[in-house]
Amino acid sequence: MATEIGHYVGNKRVAGQSGRAGDVTNPATGEVTGKVAFASEAEIDAAVQIAKKAQLAWAATPPLRRQRVMFNLKALMEKRLDDLARLMSLEHGKTFDDAKGEVGRGLEVVEFSCGIAHHMKGDFTEQVATDMDSWSIRQPLGVVAGITPFNFPIMIPCWMGAMAVACGNAFILKPSEKDPSAPMLLAELFAEAGLPAGIFQVLNGDKVAVDALLKHPDVPAISFVGSTAIGEYVYHQGTERNKRVQALCGAKNHMVIMPDADLDQATDALIGAGYGAAGERCMAISVAVAVGDVGDKLLAKLAPRVQALKVGPGLDPQSEMGPLVTRQHRDKVMGYVDQGVKEGAKLVVDGRGLKLQGYESGNFMGGCLFDNVTKDMTIYKDEIFGPVLSVVRSKTFDEAIGLVNDHAYGNGTAIFTRDGDAARAFANNVKIGMVGINVPIPVPVAYHSFGGWKASIFGDHGIYGMEGVRFYTKLKTVTARWPTGIRSGAEFAFKARN
Ligand code: NAD
Repeated sequence: MATEIGHYVGNKRVAGQSGRAGDVTNPATGEVTGKVAFASEAEIDAAVQIAKKAQLAWAATPPLRRQRVMFNLKALMEKRLDDLARLMSLEHGKTFDDAKGEVGRGLEVVEFSCGIAHHMKGDFTEQVATDMDSWSIRQPLGVVAGITPFNFPIMIPCWMGAMAVACGNAFILKPSEKDPSAPMLLAELFAEAGLPAGIFQVLNGDKVAVDALLKHPDVPAISFVGSTAIGEYVYHQGTERNKRVQALCGAKNHMVIMPDADLDQATDALIGAGYGAAGERCMAISVAVAVGDVGDKLLAKLAPRVQALKVGPGLDPQSEMGPLVTRQHRDKVMGYVDQGVKEGAKLVVDGRGLKLQGYESGNFMGGCLFDNVTKDMTIYKDEIFGPVLSVVRSKTFDEAIGLVNDHAYGNGTAIFTRDGDAARAFANNVKIGMVGINVPIPVPVAYHSFGGWKASIFGDHGIYGMEGVRFYTKLKTVTARWPTGIRSGAEFAFKARN
């Protein structure tokens, strides 16, 4: 029987009121396991009003006490790690191990937020002029919202929610409608950790809920992570209403393999970064750029590994790669593979025909590997977001870096080489937000910040780390002089301070 999934408002689960709902499916079996409520504009407004009231007291709560809640949350997430991971695996499809790793990455941001008293502390300057002092402080924005994608149902709500709440805001999460159960459990853990009612709420839904948040006059800031088309829409709609918006979007991440690279290491890296989570990661490697004579040797190592990938349900400990999130998405990915063949790329490994006994209704496909992919092909230009790796041959390092720089997306990239000069030139000159040197998925640790360039981001702030603190707070600078220091007489002209 399908579970009813409502919203999390005022520290409790509540049923949806709109009469609209969507199916949540188990991607391994195709079975409908849940019915998720879609919030109406009125339900969004009611949650914002609760958040607005609660936020005043929360902002006035000393940061030391706010961060103690984050310490409690950390302990609870660790205790419930398996439960969170299991829910994710059942609705997203990723393997249980990978889901646990995702919780770990979310936890890193929760850990960073445990130091919020330090991260938010201001600057003070004595004597900016005679008898005059000045100080800068960071204050929370109020009620802020986060709209998140299906592919990281715990990590990305933590990137946003942990930072927003620790900074003294109230946060409304609109998770992906495809896998809402783990974010609902996260909300319960926030409450159990001691977060007051109304500070972390989950409003499930679709475009109606997103538009209601974008239009709401009491929501001054929106964080979005998802596809580029929707991110651009959210950015324009939000900024048009003078909101602060950060929208982290799609990707096409290249890994450059230099002729001097350790090819066994590069192959391991490509298998993990290309096919882990069935390629449904914004930092997945989807293009391998083989430089010089490395192409044939690399393909000889890659092809049998792709062929041998163990595909199966996420909860089977033998599985290396689970199903795709929905049947519709799997068909879209398969369509890209068809298109690649039509456009003349060489399909070295074809995973389209994979059938798993007992899981015929699951959204499975095997890993696909293309060779001789060129710049003008659709499979090179578009984000496929599936287990499809394209090998592009490049004669020189300069040609390789040119490919990376000319691509519309700019999220992550990596170079595999033993040559320090090549690595340094790559890191300095590549027009990409996150760069790995012999590291295929260079997701920055929580005390740095995450963010791409070009069509992979709209807005100016990266997410989490000090960028997160800056995004979720506004700066106030006070300049003060006490009566003993005030000279008499009006001053009509600006003077140099002394
Ligand atoms: P998506 O854009 O379809 O959905 C993201 C969110 O937007 C969801 O909450 C969804 O309900 C909402 N949404 C969908 N259609 C909408 C519409 N028409 N109007 C308003 N809201 C709408 O993305 P997805 O398929 O859930 O996630 C995959 C995408 O996310 C990929 O492109 C991936 O690269 C990207 N992603 C980026 C990062 C990053 O940090 N750059 C991280 C993870 C995922």
